[in-house]
Amino acid sequence: MSFAKSLLCRKCGQVYPVEAISRCGVCLSPLEVIYDYEAMAGAMNRDKPTTGPTSMWRYKEMLPVDGEVIDIGTGFTPLVKADTLGKEIGLDRLYIKNDCLTPTYSFKDRPVSVAATKARELGFDTLACASTGNLAASVAAHAAKAGLKAYVFVPASVEPGKLIGIAIYNPNLVTVEGSYDDVNRLCARLVERYQWGFININLRPYYAEGSKTLGYEVAEQLGWRTPDCVIAPAGSGLMFTRIWKGFDELATLGMIEPASTHMFVAQAAGSSPIVNAYQSGNQHVNPVTPNTIAKSIAIGNPADGQLAISVARQSGGGAIAVSDDELSDGVKLLAETEGIFAEATGGVVIASLKQLAASGTIKRDELTVAFITGAGPRTQESVADIVKPYTVQPSIESFEEVMGAHV
Ligand SMILES: [Zn+2]
Repeated sequence: MSFAKSLLCRKCGQVYPVEAISRCGVCLSPLEVIYDYEAMAGAMNRDKPTTGPTSMWRYKEMLPVDGEVIDIGTGFTPLVKADTLGKEIGLDRLYIKNDCLTPTYSFKDRPVSVAATKARELGFDTLACASTGNLAASVAAHAAKAGLKAYVFVPASVEPGKLIGIAIYNPNLVTVEGSYDDVNRLCARLVERYQWGFININLRPYYAEGSKTLGYEVAEQLGWRTPDCVIAPAGSGLMFTRIWKGFDELATLGMIEPASTHMFVAQAAGSSPIVNAYQSGNQHVNPVTPNTIAKSIAIGNPADGQLAISVARQSGGGAIAVSDDELSDGVKLLAETEGIFAEATGGVVIASLKQLAASGTIKRDELTVAFITGAGPRTQESVADIVKPYTVQPSIESFEEVMGAHV
């Protein structure tokens, strides 16, 4: 049995049962799963995960589901010591949490695995979502695995490579003439009309919990400790806050010392409502109209923006935004130094990290983990200018003539 006991509104304190509920009925704020940590502590210790699968489900006791899970093989992705990149940007203890290596090539498989499992448990026969692309692919894949129907909604402007990556799982794929925020508004109305499990709307409290496993895994992979600094990207802000919740819960259960990690949130300057609010000293997040090649995180009205700002402030971290040119260079730098081809969002993280290291905000000897949350091949547009091959005839003479001094 799961140790989840209720849903709680963080803002007004209203308590709800563990059901499919989008938001607080009183104040419309996001809801959070509350657990019986005392009972959970009796079931969890440092040895427990090592007896489980090499996936995120090694932490099943800390997730809000019962019974059989819908698992397509997600999680326990590599934590790579990034010495070459670290040397380049001036960090001696840099690690990359490489979540390009999930079944549908982004961290979204973590929250979807939890929410899809919960959806089936609550009796839904159809999964749905509003997505910038990666989430839709993950929802479609999990529906396929579980034999559930799927309706996935994305902006019509989504990258072509992402559309193929969704359609391959054969969901009902709907492209909406509008921004992601328009897609989200449409789905918020559809959820009132159809008895579907919208992964990031009426199942959002459960969806949110899947990303905690990023925090759990990093702590375990570092030998049960937390990093000095974390840098992670933000679209809605949810995943960033859940890395922190993961650290916090491990400490609550006595599995690690309380985290003193500085949490840095990174956005693209063309869609940076969270960073804007942080830097101007506000708690309130003013929506923006996104304009960036980092489309996976191009969310103008972030649902968990306020909480993301709180986490960055309370942890002594920060918030930073980089231009499209800088993030494109970030994608290339990560690939050229560590052999990891990330999507544009990963470039946001690397370009931001480079600036934080250069300014001394993150210090050379601090143990730093950068979260790379999606793979590059679906969003090749962001780095298309790199293709400059040497073209030769199939002969040694031609090769040596064209290459000249390059050999
Ligand atoms: Zn409330």
